[in-house]
Amino acid sequence: MRLIILGASGAGKGTQAQAIASHFGVRHISSGDFLREETKADTALCRAVKRLIDRGDLVPDELMLSMMHEILEGDNFILDGFPRTFAQALALDEICGKLGCQIDMALNIHVPDDEVIQRITGRKVCPDCKAMFHIIFYPPKQNFICDHCGGRLEQRPDDTASTVRNRLKIYHERTLPIIDFYQRQNLLISTGGVGDADEITGNLIRLLEERLGKNGHCN
Ligand code: AMP
Repeated sequence: MRLIILGASGAGKGTQAQAIASHFGVRHISSGDFLREETKADTALCRAVKRLIDRGDLVPDELMLSMMHEILEGDNFILDGFPRTFAQALALDEICGKLGCQIDMALNIHVPDDEVIQRITGRKVCPDCKAMFHIIFYPPKQNFICDHCGGRLEQRPDDTASTVRNRLKIYHERTLPIIDFYQRQNLLISTGGVGDADEITGNLIRLLEERLGKNGHCN
C-alpha cells in the first residue's frame, strides 16, 4: 500500500498519517521530520536548508528528490509532506514506475486558513518522540513536558504567525494544483479536517477500505 497525504501545514496530516500507518502496518514517512533530522549537522548545505525551512520556504525540488528516492525504495508507506509541488508529483510517479509500483491513493485533508493559523501558532512539538500538543486545544498534562516520553516541548522555528502565512501562500500556489492531478487519476479521497481527530481517522480508514479493501490491496 502506497499512500500520499495532502493538506496545508496544521491540517492534521501528521496525526492522521501516524494513525493510518499504524492501522494498516505501513511506514509513516514525513518529509519535514526527515529534513529536520538531516539538517542537524553543521555544514553549509544543512544551514542553507534549515534557513529555508525556518522561513517557511520550500526546499528545492532537485534536492528533495535526491533525498526521497532512496527513502521510497521497497516497502509500503504513507507519505506525509511529499509531494508538495507539481514537479515532485510527476517525479514521484517516475520513481514509483522505476521501482515497479504505483501510488494507490492520495488523501486530502481540508482545513480553512484561519483555523490553520490558530492551530500552528499554538502548536508545541516533542523533539524526541515528535508528539504534538496545542496550548489551548490539546495541552500537555504538565506545562512544556511531553505526556508520552517526558521530553521538553518546543515551538518549531517555522510555527510563527508570519512564517505560517508564507507557508499557506506557498501551499495555495504550489501544492493545491497537485490535488487536481490525483483527482484526474481517480486516486483522490478528500475529507474535512475540522472536528474530532479520531472520527476523521475512522472516516479516512473507511473510505480507504472501500477503495482498496481491508488490507489496503486494490479491489
Ligand atoms: P512539514 O513538517 O511537513 O510542515 O515541513 C516543514 C518544512 O520542510 C516545509 O515548510 C518546507 O520548508 C520543508 N519541506 C518539507 N517537505 C517538503 C517538500 N516535499 N518539498 C519542499 N520542502 C519541503
